[in-house]
Amino acid sequence: MKLPIYMDNHATTPVDPRVLEAMLPYFTQTFGNAASRTHAFGREAAAAVERARRQIARLINADPKEIVFTSGATESDNLAIKGVAWMYRQECKPGNHIVTQPTEHKAVLDSCERLEKEGFEVTYVPVGTDGLVNPDELRSALSERTILVSVMAANNEIGVLQPIREIGELCREHSVLFHSDAVQAVGKVPIDVQAMNIDLMSITAHKIYGPKGVGALYVRHKKPEVRLAPLIDGGGHELGMRSGTLNVPGIVGLGKACELSMQEMAEESRRLSALRDCLKHGILSRLEGVHLNGSMERRLPQNLNLSFDGVEGEALMTCLDGVAVSSGAACRSMASESSYVLRALGTGEDRAQSSIRFGLGRFNTQEEVDYVIDRVVEAVKGLREFPEFALLHPEQQ
Ligand code: PLP
Repeated sequence: MKLPIYMDNHATTPVDPRVLEAMLPYFTQTFGNAASRTHAFGREAAAAVERARRQIARLINADPKEIVFTSGATESDNLAIKGVAWMYRQECKPGNHIVTQPTEHKAVLDSCERLEKEGFEVTYVPVGTDGLVNPDELRSALSERTILVSVMAANNEIGVLQPIREIGELCREHSVLFHSDAVQAVGKVPIDVQAMNIDLMSITAHKIYGPKGVGALYVRHKKPEVRLAPLIDGGGHELGMRSGTLNVPGIVGLGKACELSMQEMAEESRRLSALRDCLKHGILSRLEGVHLNGSMERRLPQNLNLSFDGVEGEALMTCLDGVAVSSGAACRSMASESSYVLRALGTGEDRAQSSIRFGLGRFNTQEEVDYVIDRVVEAVKGLREFPEFALLHPEQQ
């Protein structure tokens, strides 16, 4: 077993060597601009892009024409939310209300906040103590002014799986567009945009063993046809929704990553949920005062999120030498504020400060899980003996 052990796969994943192998020719041999259809270099690049579109579409049961390439899910979320809102405004269509929920990724929350400053109204439907949105509460938040609902498929901190199918159904009943940030769910649990009535869906490559800086937005073409105002103007690429020369090697990587996920999802989920359960049992059976955050029944197989009484997450991470985990989302790990996701569940500040997110991935082994259990148990016991080290912010306890 090699140290350090990487168990932070919700932040990012390593590129699968098979994905890298598929990408390599597109840097130096087939390097054409996919928009240069006048010569073979461009046509070959374009063919690779179209193959990737088919691979992604197959994984989510979409039409390849409904895949718009972006620089990642932050851009996809922005394009979906602002794109719908700005299109409504541009066409003077009635409606200015968006419904979302408080545990969304910042790419969704900050896009909504910007739209609020521009005069749109946003309702944040609360989540229960299990982290889940209640579809009935969401239904009561809808009005004739509602233009869009945005609810993530799987949460990036606590891994809970929102009732996407029910939400999709009620959005369809009310003729409201439905966007889902499915970054953490795609390739890990089955996602079907038809069966789930999803109209817009954000995807990124680097959470499914593909490269960073490339993603996609699924945009429904029929029943209804979704039209978006672009965020980036330029050469009219991607049906005018996202201008800019396509990142061909990255797109090839995203396509290959989707193909592999589709082939391996069932087996990988079984293996990783067994490892995750072993991690959970190993820690809970040897330590008192440990709390599970979020629903265990509706959860990604790869995720475990625990809070440890009397021990701050950051202090624990410092002691977990050789084990890469996190105390929340990567974009928050620079700030010392506690998890807004856990606070939205009503866990209280203490539990939000003392949480650790374990994100298992394709390359983790049983041996690594056993090692992590030992290190966590040892570190928590050690810190509880010396509260002066366990609490980085004692004033908040
Ligand atoms: N949405 C969720 C749920 C995420 O976990 C992430 C990644 O941190 C993003 C959006 C942003 O994705 P990207 O890093 O591709 O911009």
